[in-house]
Amino acid sequence: MSAASPGTALVTGASSGIGKVYADRLAKRGYDLILVARNRERLEALAGELRASTGRKVEVLAADLAEPRDAARVAARIVEEEGLTLVVNNAGSGTEGPVVGADPAKIDAMVQLNVVALTRLAVAAVDTFSRRGRGTLINIASVVAIVPEFFPGAYAATKAYVLAFTQSLQTELQGSPVRVQAVLPGATRTEFFERAGLDANVFPEEAVMSADNLVDAALKGLDLGEAITIPPLPDFAGFEAVTAARLALQPGLSLRDPAPRYRG
Ligand code: NAP
Repeated sequence: MSAASPGTALVTGASSGIGKVYADRLAKRGYDLILVARNRERLEALAGELRASTGRKVEVLAADLAEPRDAARVAARIVEEEGLTLVVNNAGSGTEGPVVGADPAKIDAMVQLNVVALTRLAVAAVDTFSRRGRGTLINIASVVAIVPEFFPGAYAATKAYVLAFTQSLQTELQGSPVRVQAVLPGATRTEFFERAGLDANVFPEEAVMSADNLVDAALKGLDLGEAITIPPLPDFAGFEAVTAARLALQPGLSLRDPAPRYRG
């Protein structure tokens, strides 16, 4: 860890979009960086810019997180990097259109990246941070985690997993110095839609946030101590009411007898 740094942050999916803005903002906050994505050239270009503009130490770790071996290599780095204090689990992808007629291999690759690799890195991070008594994990989910009806295919389910997994981690880590934040972006202007073969122009302009605003709001949410940050949502009380209503079901969710409507 270099002098006056809050530590080192590892950011996945740092070569474009939301992850690239996280890298910029974290370097400006004084973090040294490890930038992860597949496109080494783009990562090197960003690393050069950030070293020049902030003077931070910036390292590039090219990896295809949809490949279990590469995900394991990045997880090992999380365990070994002594000054690591922050992991941004951001790399993710979507697939085009509905499940019917989809290429199963594309869905496999998305689940491998959005779910399996994210979990692998999160486990490495919270385990390492717990042993060191310090650290923060940020998991990038999506608003479609709570409204899967609004997004076609299996993508929303991968993001629902990210949210549920984050909530489980938060419960497990209650009272621990290790923090976990879930960030749920709405539509955000990045390469995401184009890469997924989707048309971002279906959204009206006022429904799409810039990646700059998204990350600045998400980091403000982190600074405020939020466990779940939904940058565009004006009425957070609405989300809290949904959570309270969901948790109120708990006494009836595991009982010896079937509910009366299923008897007889
Ligand atoms: P993006 O511009 O397409 O960025 C995705 C990043 O992930 C890129 O840096 C990409 O870099 C990296 N990546 C993709 N596949 C990878 C792989 N197999 N291994 C390693 N890195 C990989 O999209 P974005 O919007 O910034 O997406 C960031 C996160 O936000 C994703 O988790 C996405 O699901 C989530 N999100 C986005 C939106 C939105 O509207 N944009 C809304 C909600 C949530 P390489 O190609 O160099 O590997």
